[in-house]
Amino acid sequence: MQQAKAKARADESAAARHVALLRAELARRGLDGFVVPHGDEHQGEYVPPSALRLTWISGFTGSAGVAVVLAERAALFVDGRYTLQAAAEADDALFEQVHLVEQPPHQWLATALPAGARLGYDPWLHTPNGVEQLRQACAKAGAQLVPCDSNPLDAVWADRPAPPRAPVIAHHADFAGCSAERKRTDLAQSLTAEKLDAAILSAPESIAWLLNLRGGDVPFTPLPLSFAIVNRDATVDLFMDDRKLSSETRKHLGNAVRAAAPAAFGPALDALGGKSVRLDPATTPSWIADRLTKAGAQIAPGADPCALPRACKNSVELDGMRRAHRRDGAALVRFLAWLSGAAGDGKTTELSVAETLEGYRKNGEHYRGPSFPTISAAGPNAALPHYHASEHSNRPLDKGQLYLVDSGGQYLDGTTDVTRTIAVGPAGPEERRRFTLVLKGHIALARARFPQGTTGSQLDSLARQPLWTEGLDYDHGTGHGVGSYLGVHEGPQRISKLPSVQPLLPGMVLSDEPGYYKTGAYGIRIENLLAVRPWPGPGERETLEFETLTLAPIDLALVERDLLTDAEADWLNAYHARVRGDLTPLLDAGTAHWLAEATRAI
Ligand code: ZN
Ligand code: ZN
Repeated sequence: MQQAKAKARADESAAARHVALLRAELARRGLDGFVVPHGDEHQGEYVPPSALRLTWISGFTGSAGVAVVLAERAALFVDGRYTLQAAAEADDALFEQVHLVEQPPHQWLATALPAGARLGYDPWLHTPNGVEQLRQACAKAGAQLVPCDSNPLDAVWADRPAPPRAPVIAHHADFAGCSAERKRTDLAQSLTAEKLDAAILSAPESIAWLLNLRGGDVPFTPLPLSFAIVNRDATVDLFMDDRKLSSETRKHLGNAVRAAAPAAFGPALDALGGKSVRLDPATTPSWIADRLTKAGAQIAPGADPCALPRACKNSVELDGMRRAHRRDGAALVRFLAWLSGAAGDGKTTELSVAETLEGYRKNGEHYRGPSFPTISAAGPNAALPHYHASEHSNRPLDKGQLYLVDSGGQYLDGTTDVTRTIAVGPAGPEERRRFTLVLKGHIALARARFPQGTTGSQLDSLARQPLWTEGLDYDHGTGHGVGSYLGVHEGPQRISKLPSVQPLLPGMVLSDEPGYYKTGAYGIRIENLLAVRPWPGPGERETLEFETLTLAPIDLALVERDLLTDAEADWLNAYHARVRGDLTPLLDAGTAHWLAEATRAI
């Protein structure tokens, strides 16, 4: 506790120095303010240390947010997940804290900017859509929005880490299920069909998918950071630090993929003058759009053309996901069996348990590391859906509490993400009732059948209905897309209250993760991954259903049998029988015995 406070004070003074340095640099450039987003040039969820500008300027370490530094005042914008963390990490004497969703930066700027002010931004770090919002805000305030040729924060960030240079390796066809050549040819055909000459790819997961490449430039996701231009003749121009490419990887890429240094990207965009170029204005840096426009290219705004084919996994990728989930399930069962003996002993804490879990996963075949930071939360800490245990917040798993663990692994053949909520000792009637309501919602979504064309937002209420009936709900989405040894959070599909126009399609993988959170008391979430598949039954319409991929027992100590319908109990029993059948051959006798009890029919 003392240590955490001392560290916070030291960080505060660092932030004060950094803000002063940036203000001096802005003054030198004739600017009155600058926008510092969390995102990097690729708008990814995880960014390399060289892109942690928001942390450098404010001290805030969360994975989403924006800072605006003006001459006299500064603001830090974070969403509800990070309100408490930002208050603890950032100095409120330097940064006013503003709610990112309730008052986004462009709204705040419209009133905070003095008339005549010049607001700078780095066009690599903002999308055309984002720049347009800033432009309108500046117009309202009578201020001017100014693109910076070079980032003024980088200019004063003396010990900025070098950009990452992790080796890039081929993702084997045994895992990818489709050659890069075939993917390039298919993509070129769709460009031709849309009368496009080329498409810009700025999302590293799209480039990784298209060229069957994986890397290690950011934490938790095997991404090689790069940009690419896909041409209608099925060739690709790939821009990345060529020290990342071994001769073996170059051989894998072949002659149709021309690798070049990042400095060659600008001239390659200039060469697209007069051509029709697909670009996603919601995810691509505005620097690219500006350069193309200047070169006389015709920008055809539209979604990243790799996003949808990447989301619809082929049969090899789905088989890989199933195998990865069996290994991951076996590791999780060994962990849960251990936890059933250790929890509540007074020594087991959120941090020690998370470390033990990683130990069980670590030796699994094809395991490459966690797919996101583990959420290991006991008692009231679990009421924060995105909680991350620190030395400062670490709690023991006490008897009578609920323990929530949300974790996942990256395997060469698949990506996992699973949440289980466990009773440590006996659980109270309210906890059991609400856990069962969450379970009913989870089952309702897992059992859903729906016609072709149905979107995730149309299915979302299935998972909430049992909670809504008792005046309860949860404030996060029900499901996100998951990549195949790629990002654990990937679109374009999702299941949420937010409107979505993307129908669910066969091969898509999504999470099913309803929850319930009681502030200051406890939190519940049950999460499995599901794959969309055609329903083989009779009927008049093409109908889809889900296959559950995740294999791990759901804590029966928290299930109120009387609240379940027979159909729901049948689902739970069949699921548990499958978990037992699939995992028992992978377990030692003692763990298998524990699993048999944990998956008994109710
Ligand atoms: Zn999760
Ligand atoms: Zn998830």
